[in-house]
Amino acid sequence: MTDKLLLPLILAPVIIIAIAAVVFLILRSDGPEEYEVGLTAVATLESPSGEAMGSVTFRQAAAGVLIMADVRGLAPGGHAFIVHETGACTPDFEAAGDHFNPEDAEHGFVHSAWKRDDSGGHGGDLPNLYAHSDGSARADFFTVGIALDRGPDHSVFDADGSAIIVHEKPDPYGEEEADTGARVACGVIRRG
Ligand SMILES: [Zn+2]
Repeated sequence: MTDKLLLPLILAPVIIIAIAAVVFLILRSDGPEEYEVGLTAVATLESPSGEAMGSVTFRQAAAGVLIMADVRGLAPGGHAFIVHETGACTPDFEAAGDHFNPEDAEHGFVHSAWKRDDSGGHGGDLPNLYAHSDGSARADFFTVGIALDRGPDHSVFDADGSAIIVHEKPDPYGEEEADTGARVACGVIRRG
């Protein structure tokens, strides 16, 4: 057998393996999950003493969820704004449990990056809200950390539902030990 024949014989399996690898990667990354675009949900916020503090509206988009907050009655300044794992605000706001965390990730956008954990934080972690001097805050967020469909692991409509909470202090996003203070507003996320 000459060298001219040997080379293609050696290369053939390499090429076949390379093609198989490319096909495998394409099949694995066939885009985001299919969501039911247009699904909506709403959380009506209350203070610990039951006063109305505005609402949060959720809208499922093709690649994530649009969250629109319209809050009042806050102390001026920054407030952590986080989806919690249980759909309950009674008997007190502790009933909402910890941060919604379907991926068993570390808290905070910065913390997770700093630890070289590519999770990007808890599914329920959101940017802070900043209240004006009159106590009102409006903000829109887009997140891939939650879904309104019932199927995905990161659906807020899992067996025990989810709630959204406004905290007393801003979230340092995990750069330091998170102390976001008291839970000042809570709302169970319900189908809109
Ligand atoms: Zn968190």
